[in-house]
Amino acid sequence: MNYDIIVVGAGFAGATTAERLARKGKQVLIIDKREHLGGNAYDYFEEGILIHRYGPHIFHTNHEKVFNYLSEFTEWYPYRHRVLGHLKDKIVPIPFNFRSIDECFDKEKAEKLKALLISEYGENKKIPIMELLKNEDEDVKELADFIFENVFKYYTMKQWGLEAHEIDAAVTARVPVNTSYDDGYFNDTYQYMPKDGYTRIFEKMLKSENITVMLGTRMSDILRLKDGKIWYKGKEFGGKVVYTGEIDALFDYCLGDLPYRSLDLKLEKHDGTYQQAATENYPCPKEERAYTRITEYKHFMNEFQSDITYIHREFPQAYDKNMNIPYYPIFTPANQELYEKYVKLAEGYEDLYLLGRLAEYKYYNMDAIILKALELAETIE
Ligand SMILES: Cc1cc2nc3c(=O)[nH]c(=O)nc-3n(C[C@H](O)[C@H](O)[C@H](O)COP(=O)(O)OP(=O)(O)OC[C@H]3O[C@@H](n4cnc5c(N)ncnc54)[C@H](O)[C@@H]3O)c2cc1C
Repeated sequence: MNYDIIVVGAGFAGATTAERLARKGKQVLIIDKREHLGGNAYDYFEEGILIHRYGPHIFHTNHEKVFNYLSEFTEWYPYRHRVLGHLKDKIVPIPFNFRSIDECFDKEKAEKLKALLISEYGENKKIPIMELLKNEDEDVKELADFIFENVFKYYTMKQWGLEAHEIDAAVTARVPVNTSYDDGYFNDTYQYMPKDGYTRIFEKMLKSENITVMLGTRMSDILRLKDGKIWYKGKEFGGKVVYTGEIDALFDYCLGDLPYRSLDLKLEKHDGTYQQAATENYPCPKEERAYTRITEYKHFMNEFQSDITYIHREFPQAYDKNMNIPYYPIFTPANQELYEKYVKLAEGYEDLYLLGRLAEYKYYNMDAIILKALELAETIE
């Protein structure tokens, strides 16, 4: 078979590109070193409950284009994600919102804080915790310190294995404070779960006579990069390669390893229902509980008719390329600099495209990477 395009990685980046290019009439080979499709969005049924093997994935987007695109492959189940946080003696909505303020402060203080937040930032706004900490008003500062100490600090330290001040602002911005009673975790226009799960979406996306899928196949099994040329099974490859794996691995770590944070997800089966919300956070110090959050899957699809339940307990851990999965890139200027050096190496290969969270060393939500893949596929001829 003469392929026009070889796509490495069958997550959303790779599968979207493959699907689009196949629809344009290109012959596409898509490979993945894992034995299944879907990358980190892979899910499967266990005793009737849909479990996300690599951690909870909630689809949310403001991009109509992405929503319409995925709707070609799935029907949707409306789902609004809510998260609760276990503070010392209370369980409160996360992100911290007006209900959380009511729970944590006496009535008079709570009223004052809510009024201050509205006058300072407006109603229904999401304020990054780092911005709140810069506020000079004493009461706002007290609130910010409380949230920082009780909700953000230890969670972040556990999540990243770093001190809070070492984390890039892009990450801290993901931890906002809501100036309203709205306890929705996301405020995007489209918030759904795919009715038959994510894996089914991938199966449908890649079901084309123009697409060949090879699972359990590493890039190094079939492709080699050398001196600006790409070799496929020992012959110079005349097509294009879209690579969605780790960029340092692509060049055999020749400039050093790019650091990631990994997770150990422990799956547990219990009777009945385990917790109130789909995800509950534990922002206490590591010494008290080493895990950051628990996700109970039956909440996603309203599977409460089941007598049993499955949960994932998430233990963040250091990444070792020989042991576990690279989940989150670690944003520091030094890491970014190393990443840019790898990009320079990749630029030596005209027919090589880097796409996705690993190849671009960047955290993407699913909708963002699908959008990028749709755009890339439009440019590849
Ligand atoms: C714990 C967690 C929770 C998340 N929750 C959400 C959420 O709720 N909502 C949301 O929108 N996003 C979420 N995300 C982000 C989402 O997972 C990513 O947007 C998505 O996985 C990116 O797709 P990708 O194709 O770039 O990467 P991946 O899904 O990682 O796919 C890359 C694929 O490439 C394969 N591969 C790598 N190297 C090679 C090689 N050399 N040869 C062959 N195959 C290779 C890998 O096996 C993998 O299957 C979450 C991420 C994590 C880690």
